[in-house]
Amino acid sequence: MSLKDRLISIRSALPQSVNLIAVSKTQPSEAILEAYQCGQLVFGENKPQELVAKASVLPSDIQWHLIGHLQTNKVKMVLPYVSMIHSVDSLKLLIQIEKEAAKIDKKVNCLLQFHIATEESKFGLSLSEAEELLKSADYLAMNQICICGVMGMASFSEDEELVRSEFLELKDIFHHLKQNYFIKDEHFSELSMGMSGDYLIAIESGSTLVRIGSAIFGYRS
Ligand SMILES: *Cc1c(COP(=O)(O)O)cnc(C)c1O
Repeated sequence: MSLKDRLISIRSALPQSVNLIAVSKTQPSEAILEAYQCGQLVFGENKPQELVAKASVLPSDIQWHLIGHLQTNKVKMVLPYVSMIHSVDSLKLLIQIEKEAAKIDKKVNCLLQFHIATEESKFGLSLSEAEELLKSADYLAMNQICICGVMGMASFSEDEELVRSEFLELKDIFHHLKQNYFIKDEHFSELSMGMSGDYLIAIESGSTLVRIGSAIFGYRS
């Protein structure tokens, strides 16, 4: 199957309400352009430097989503190029985004990343940490930040019921935050979950944004 055929077949499996992020990390510009020529405008990268390098040379109507961990010292470089940051996992990071965004007068779309998998990971908030962030005076005073929803990664597992339960946990977190902090805010609407191996389960569990790499581009080196 060609890249085009893989893209078409994945798109045909997505309901209208689900948007596709083509995860292009480690892929060369030629592969990204091939997907772009098939009408794919939203791409995901996990490293700020790689996102900036690609965004600088590829068509300007591409929307770049940062899906990987963001260190505070990389915020400034990536901010001009990014249309959504999926990996906000601390108040400290959000404060830095607010500060740098104010300098370039940009509103920044962010998702709160949650740790839902059984695997150990340094990244991702718990529900109580997220609530602490959302109640903080620092967050409440921010003008540049738009929190658009939540993001999470399920366990890397063959156990579909485990994966499903983790996605449903993220969906519960989304609804809890919506009810308690964003009830009148229509921007808070995104549930970013689902990758090549588990996107069908993610869609059944309420995903609105799937992040798919290898199923489009083939295996990464
Ligand atoms: C790499 C990556 C993906 C895509 O993974 P595939 O299995 O290639 O679809 C999705 N989300 C994040 C955060 C990633 O780092």
